[in-house]
Amino acid sequence: MGDSKTEIKFSQLFINGSFVDSLSGNTFETLDPRTGEVIALVAEGGKEDIDLAVKAAREAFDHGKWPRMPGSERGKILMKFASLIEEHADEIAAIDTLDAGKLFYFGKFAQIPAIAGNVRYYAGAADKIHGETLKMSREFQAYTLKEPIGVVGAIIPWNFPSMMFSIKVSPALAVGCTVIVKPAEQSPLSALYYAHLAKLAGIPDGVLNVVPGFGPTAGAALASHMDVDKVTFTGSTEVGRKIMEASAKSNLKSITLELGGKSPVIIFDDADLDMAVELARLAIFFNKGEVCIAGSRVLVQEGIYDEFIKKCIEKSKEWKVGDPFDPTVNQGPQIDKTQYEKVLSYIELGKSEGAKLVSGGKACGDKGYYIEPTIFTDVKDDMRIAQEEIFGPVMSVMKFKTIDEAIERGNCSIYGLGAGVITKNIDTVNQMSRSLRVGVVWVNCYFAFDPDLPFGGYKMSGFGKDQGMDSIEGFVKKKTVATPLYNSPW
Ligand code: NAD
Repeated sequence: MGDSKTEIKFSQLFINGSFVDSLSGNTFETLDPRTGEVIALVAEGGKEDIDLAVKAAREAFDHGKWPRMPGSERGKILMKFASLIEEHADEIAAIDTLDAGKLFYFGKFAQIPAIAGNVRYYAGAADKIHGETLKMSREFQAYTLKEPIGVVGAIIPWNFPSMMFSIKVSPALAVGCTVIVKPAEQSPLSALYYAHLAKLAGIPDGVLNVVPGFGPTAGAALASHMDVDKVTFTGSTEVGRKIMEASAKSNLKSITLELGGKSPVIIFDDADLDMAVELARLAIFFNKGEVCIAGSRVLVQEGIYDEFIKKCIEKSKEWKVGDPFDPTVNQGPQIDKTQYEKVLSYIELGKSEGAKLVSGGKACGDKGYYIEPTIFTDVKDDMRIAQEEIFGPVMSVMKFKTIDEAIERGNCSIYGLGAGVITKNIDTVNQMSRSLRVGVVWVNCYFAFDPDLPFGGYKMSGFGKDQGMDSIEGFVKKKTVATPLYNSPW
């Protein structure tokens, strides 16, 4: 039974099928954001540990059975992995609540089943990865092979530790790659639990390795390793640049970057107002605003602006902040002291920039890192709170007049991860969805995810796709083979 007393069973590095201490013997504390207290001491992987994990993954890729077995066999093992994840949903959800302040009941009943669904999606894809037959202009024929790219480094953030693990690892394993995961230092525990389940499922030693540690040491060692063929990264735009640099300065490994966002929710006069308020609230306050695709800029057309704000303030008062193990709570604590202070400092910045604070705006609770759901109105495009990623429960509301203005201001960001459009007018839907320079447009909904939907940004939100069959393309190399059609002398 998962609860706040859940025992932490796995806190060592997982390399070549075994849990081991780091070579240095160093550990680091992982903390409970509800209290700031230590949950566990976790082995701290450094460059030497990354070297060991890459060696194991290289060996498993170059000589092991995983890339060579039929896709259907890999699929069978991944199906078992998915079932084990479901069976342990309770415990995994509790670990993510303790480690990252995530809502326990949402984790147990929604997020972990979705993660098992992701693994199953790619398990089903494992025997459907094939090239094409090509017609050549001469008396030749040619075909393409899709081969696994090789050893993959997956560097993931703390805001969705389980989801990030599953969307990076499942497609990579399905195609036959071997993987080293570097979870975020703030939330390393569930990745280690998944490593244990992967072993139980029958994933061979060396195929999946998990090395917790810090970004500038373990993460950087993975990104610049000469024997890693691909890095799939989710995290900040700032670190995304470093990953590109590391690739350029080492072996030009392939990279996928899923980075930050400042996504607009654009609400037109004809929208169902109650639905618009509900979606706008969810878009920014869900997961305490620690969502890359949070709807942090809310653009509201002038005809409903005042009414929208009135209702939004009322609704934000009903959004309950508190212990994420409590089933009645909507919002838990921010991940750690650093993020908590960062969010509070952005709230101060918003006030000093001249935005109007109409709801929330303060820390709450007598311990831990809780922040009230906060709403600013009268926000201008050039304010820093309208341009920078706050990564907290802070909504910035702005007023617009015309659809052209909504397009221009919706696109007024260095980021292009996603957008929400709320309207009943089909012409508006069509125009908006074709004009916004973002990776996903949610019409009259928000956070509509599914394993089949490709996810990834435009502009400085990165490149490459997670999820969907597009994600598979990031873990394969296409090889062309050409041969004469007849026994003609060359
Ligand atoms: P972060 O960039 O600080 O860290 C992400 C990961 O990178 C961590 O594992 C960290 O240890 C590692 N890292 C840090 N420095 C490194 C370095 N020099 N070399 C290699 N690895 C390094 O991001 P974060 O604070 O953990 O997460 C929040 C950010 O992630 C936000 O910007 C958010 O928008 C973004 N994010 C994006 C998506 C998406 O799909 N686009 C999803 C979730 C989060």
